[in-house]
Amino acid sequence: MAVKGVLRLGEVAIRVTDVEAALQHYDKWLGLHCVMRDEGRAYLKAWDEHDHHSIVIRKADQPGCDYFAFKVSDDAALTDFESRIRAHGTDVKKIAAGTYAKSGRRIEFVLPSGHTMQLYAEKEQIGNTLGTKNPGVVPDDGVIRGLRINRLDHILLGGVALDDNVRFFREVLDFSLSEKLVDHESGASLAVFLTCSNKPHDIAFIQQPQPNRFHHISFLLESAHDVVQAADVIGKHRIPVDVSLNRHGITRGATIYFFDPSGNRNEVFAGGYVYYPDTPTLVWDTTSFGPAIFSQDNTPRESFLNKLT
Ligand code: FE
Repeated sequence: MAVKGVLRLGEVAIRVTDVEAALQHYDKWLGLHCVMRDEGRAYLKAWDEHDHHSIVIRKADQPGCDYFAFKVSDDAALTDFESRIRAHGTDVKKIAAGTYAKSGRRIEFVLPSGHTMQLYAEKEQIGNTLGTKNPGVVPDDGVIRGLRINRLDHILLGGVALDDNVRFFREVLDFSLSEKLVDHESGASLAVFLTCSNKPHDIAFIQQPQPNRFHHISFLLESAHDVVQAADVIGKHRIPVDVSLNRHGITRGATIYFFDPSGNRNEVFAGGYVYYPDTPTLVWDTTSFGPAIFSQDNTPRESFLNKLT
């Protein structure tokens, strides 16, 4: 797999009830960089991302996710996906370049699960401060702040019609199904994990009674040791924790879940196996529910399963 077509999760737009409190959380404590503000919105990036921003926050009455966007390899890929999505029977909205900050043209569509997804090929690149010639390995001031987040990693959403989502991502967007969790008796899909890269997942969905729910965004750290360091920083700032240090059976990532001040769930994540397109889909069933989700204590958490925004 040369990585062409859909590259990665490039942007998530999050609703917050207090922008200043959100900036204290995401910039000051987590260590993302606020790179721009405009009419009620703030734009942030992790230090090692080259594109202008990956997180957009805006003030709203309720927390949640407005939309998420994946970056594709080039404009021809965007055109190709547009026709494939239409051929699949899904409406596509064209969005002109410049409508979204620092972004080229986009296409937007609604998934069977009820979520609004966008694709784009161009976004202004501002780099990671190292330059591209003899760049070194850490930022020029030697400091990676906060939780030491390298980049946005993945998003997990709650909704309906998971199998239709899987079909859409595999047949239309060329993703692979890396893992799934099914009901032991009925075989119904309860959670599905999809990848467009070498990572165990780039997006995942869990079955929910309502469409268009948001479970978490996840930020990539360099190592499990950094996840331990992140736990110290989370504790220091009294950030509300949902699930402290653990490791997922599914994806094998080291993890911590916590909440932003508006109640949106965040994760820091490190590790996980390397995925290739010939890796078989791993299937877990509900007889192994605890180990699938949290493999160090094999204990599912009520809040983790049922609190979405
Ligand atoms: Fe996650």
